[in-house]
Amino acid sequence: MPRYVPGARGSAERLPPIKLSSNENPYPPLPSVAQAIGAQGQLAHLYPDMFAVELHERIGAFLGLPAASVAVGGGSVAALQHVLQAYAGPGDEVIFAWRSFEAYPILTQITGATPVQVPLGQDGRHDLDAMAGAITDATRVIVLCSPNNPTGPALRSAEVEAFLARVPSRVLVGLDEAYVEFVRDPDVVDGRAALDRHRNLLIARTFSKAYGLAGLRVGYVAGDPELIAPVRSCVTPFSVSAPAQAAAIASLDAQDELLERVELVVAERERVVPALAELGWDVPEPQGNFVWLAAGERTAQIAGALADLEPAVLVRPFAGEGMRVSIGTPEQNDALLAALGSIR
Ligand SMILES: *Cc1c(COP(=O)(O)O)cnc(C)c1O
Repeated sequence: MPRYVPGARGSAERLPPIKLSSNENPYPPLPSVAQAIGAQGQLAHLYPDMFAVELHERIGAFLGLPAASVAVGGGSVAALQHVLQAYAGPGDEVIFAWRSFEAYPILTQITGATPVQVPLGQDGRHDLDAMAGAITDATRVIVLCSPNNPTGPALRSAEVEAFLARVPSRVLVGLDEAYVEFVRDPDVVDGRAALDRHRNLLIARTFSKAYGLAGLRVGYVAGDPELIAPVRSCVTPFSVSAPAQAAAIASLDAQDELLERVELVVAERERVVPALAELGWDVPEPQGNFVWLAAGERTAQIAGALADLEPAVLVRPFAGEGMRVSIGTPEQNDALLAALGSIR
């Protein structure tokens, strides 16, 4: 089993690091959301609503779907795990792009199924042609990641439609849209709209990134109720805590305010990419809250040099390939650019 490598953290002896290693939202919860979380402290001796009824309804309403179309989990990683548990097992194949989100091989192997990793094509993009070509009689699930973690580009609607036309209806396709709120390219696939056209499609979304609730663990998958029912059967009972349920609901109430913050991150992304280009980095088109620096053989060396600075600049290196760097506050991004300039 591959190990999940979390983004680097700081240590007690040093200045607080500039943590750009986990694609977290750089802004703390809104006061209204923090208050909803705090109120749950008084009720911590009680189990949460096991079926998270209100949260399912609120997410359903947000998506324009019935509550039965939604299955929440302790982060969308957990929701995706429940999808794979429901639909794949020993002897089955699960196709996904590689390099992509490092949880996919782990979640696949937990079910006993065989991961089929299809190398990315040009510019850190999925090679959907090769992925369609990898389908066999044993294929049960295909996971698409848009925007792709860690390389950044998102899938376009037309290419996804052409791909889905080649996927047999007995194969489940999971579209992981963890960063959908940061997408600004109008040609990028909208998983919610695609659900209406494809009954074998599920989308996965999270409150961890745009909504800034990574520490609370809440995400979901959505699709046809018939597809979702077996997923719900696999959910660990009570896995979304009461504070997480309350925070997610308060966040849906505060949509507009939260999306203003997303806008700040997107504006920073648009500022950082040309600045990186000036430093000589050719960044694949980022549609999430992170950029990919293809440092190749020098990845570990550069990430090490950034971590040795005071304060440390923490990124997520993939040795021999490149590093994923989250977009932070303007100050954090300035520090990143200065650091990259200094170790040029
Ligand atoms: C961050 C991320 C998730 C979701 O993480 P959770 O915190 O478990 O909701 C899912 N998929 C990708 C590609 C991610 O980068």
